[in-house]
Amino acid sequence: MLQSKLFIPTQAKPPADEVSKNGKLLQQAGFVDKLHAGVYSWLPLGLRVLNRVATIIREEHNAFGASEVLMPALQPKVLWDETGRWGTLKEVMYQWQDGDKHVGLASTHEEVIVDLIRRSQPTYRDLPKGLYQIQWKFRNEPRAKSGVMRGREFLMKDLYSFHANVADLDAYYSGIHGVYQKIFNRLGLESHITEASGGTFTKRHSHEFQVLSDAGEDRVLVCTECDYAQNVELGTPEKCPQCGKAAAIKKSIEVGNTFNFGDYYGQTMGCTYTDDKGVRQPLYVASYGIGVSRLVGTIAEVFGDERGLVWPIAVAPFKAHVLTIGKLDDEQKKQAQQFEKVLSETILLDDRDLSPGHKFTDADLIGLPYRIVVSARQGKNVEVTTRSSGEQKIMTSADALKFLQTV
Ligand code: ATP
Ligand code: MG
Repeated sequence: MLQSKLFIPTQAKPPADEVSKNGKLLQQAGFVDKLHAGVYSWLPLGLRVLNRVATIIREEHNAFGASEVLMPALQPKVLWDETGRWGTLKEVMYQWQDGDKHVGLASTHEEVIVDLIRRSQPTYRDLPKGLYQIQWKFRNEPRAKSGVMRGREFLMKDLYSFHANVADLDAYYSGIHGVYQKIFNRLGLESHITEASGGTFTKRHSHEFQVLSDAGEDRVLVCTECDYAQNVELGTPEKCPQCGKAAAIKKSIEVGNTFNFGDYYGQTMGCTYTDDKGVRQPLYVASYGIGVSRLVGTIAEVFGDERGLVWPIAVAPFKAHVLTIGKLDDEQKKQAQQFEKVLSETILLDDRDLSPGHKFTDADLIGLPYRIVVSARQGKNVEVTTRSSGEQKIMTSADALKFLQTV
């Protein structure tokens, strides 16, 4: 695509009011725009990354057999009163009176989906069921200072699974842990599966997926020897409870989590199924979240350097940035256009009439995996630079094109 046609409002300096690295870089590079604390617009480049992350999550959930739905954000108080969460979440949830009714913006969707499933009157033949959505959540977060990693409006993937018994739930629950590892691997992130406390009302432990980073708001105890990790909120043993070796406390970003509710929702909201003898039994429910927009911030934090963003190819808005430098002859102009013609959707062609310095600075800031320079000085050759390593190669334009078709 032609850069001159897209809306990529890069800035010479990072925004003065932003403290986080991801917030600074994503805004300076024109990926997002902050409207107010914790609330961002996703601009063309940022939206492409967000959509790529969402696509990877979708593919892995669909492959596991979960089906996608989209539930309403505007929800009635009556449903939330069934679990008492209208009251307990009142600091977090945006709630107001609408005529003679009270409504709120969803901070999560357990109540709505449990109601949906119970009204479908499932039988044992319909189980298990896994339904997920990728949807905007609203939370009145008091400390929205971590850029897109802590939004007051943010994109979440939330999956809910419904089972006839504990054993079936447990098997599905660990299956999803495998799905999560695959997703984070595909995103290029190393995640630690971490034991954590159960959240608002589960007495059971939950699990979190944590990416180690100084930008994180969480602290986890990670074993130096085995793969064990635990959120420090559970207490801080000095030794790994799994293998007895030394453990270290590290800052980390929670990119996902899973909650096993057992029969809590089945009992509390009367969410039941009919078993093979015609008897109604409580359903066993679990929920599983991933912070989709938080992941974009996490990738910016983990890979970004002093010159700007550095995107792994799996989520990059484009594979390569083609820069035209100097006064090109007709053949060189054709070469540059050829990249865009052949690979249009995966190439960003900087066709703007700007100084080389400006184009190089913007390319570093935007951080596409490869930079291809077509310059008046190079004749038929182009210079291919890998953004993450800085490695440079000179090759013919035709070879560069072939190379980009393989990555
Ligand atoms: P945190 O402890 O960071 O507030 P949480 O325990 O409240 O997270 P959940 O309610 O389980 O998180 O949400 C599921 C996932 O959504 C989290 O694992 C995280 O990745 C993401 N998430 C939660 N809150 C936010 C937020 N304010 N902005 C962006 N992503 C968020
Ligand atoms: Mg929270």
